[in-house]
Amino acid sequence: MSPAVSRGAARPLASQGAHPALPVRHRRLTVLSGPSGVGKSTVVAHLRTVHPDVWLSVSATTRKPRPGERDGVQYFFVDDDEFDKLIANGDLLEWAAFAGHRYGTPRKPVLDKLAAGEPVLLEIDLQGARLVRKSMPEAHLVFLAPPSWDELVRRLTGRGTESAEVIEERLAAARVELDAESEFDATLVNTSVEDVARELLALMEIA
Ligand code: ADP
Ligand code: 5GP
Repeated sequence: MSPAVSRGAARPLASQGAHPALPVRHRRLTVLSGPSGVGKSTVVAHLRTVHPDVWLSVSATTRKPRPGERDGVQYFFVDDDEFDKLIANGDLLEWAAFAGHRYGTPRKPVLDKLAAGEPVLLEIDLQGARLVRKSMPEAHLVFLAPPSWDELVRRLTGRGTESAEVIEERLAAARVELDAESEFDATLVNTSVEDVARELLALMEIA
């Protein structure tokens, strides 16, 4: 991938974030997507140190916890049968298969927060973002892009949490995700975690 500028990353934030057709009260649901390894979790974790009150949906997944991940914090770690039940009971707002595992957003907490007028942040993959777009067209979709393809590979590899085979699988998915950037309402390039967290808060109209 060529440098950020050639892929439109230099577009001014104000025009990317603007969504004039929607009144502010309907912009409470923000979906953050982007290729694996781009830094979504890092940005969200930083954002929540600055603004601990920002509510982030905790997804269910059939993937095994990475070192340091705790059940109910980063994810609800479930087995295949439990995930099947969540689907069958209609408990998921959306779900998708990604790199050999399933991931889904618990429906009720999201709807409860939105009903209470609170901002909601989902960190989900492209397929999930598309499903949310369909079921909740007022959602604001934000794409987190890497500064370059090589940097994405470096981050994904450098994280050291996946085997070479899984990294290849995630990079194949990343190519598809990067091609879908134009479907999103805004793009943020993750050069600096602090800057992106600040820009994301601005898009969420929190700061
Ligand atoms: P994702 O949640 O998108 O899969 P992570 O948040 O796990 O990605 O980040 C992948 C790796 O990239 C981690 O090792 C993280 O520390 C690193 N990283 C994240 N953002 C940046 C950044 N702006 N500059 C350099 N490294 C970063
Ligand atoms: P990871 O295994 O790296 O934590 O996540 C892999 C991918 O699954 C990431 O792109 C992440 O955003 C996505 N993901 C996490 N939770 C959900 C979810 O509830 N739904 C969907 N569709 N994707 C999710």
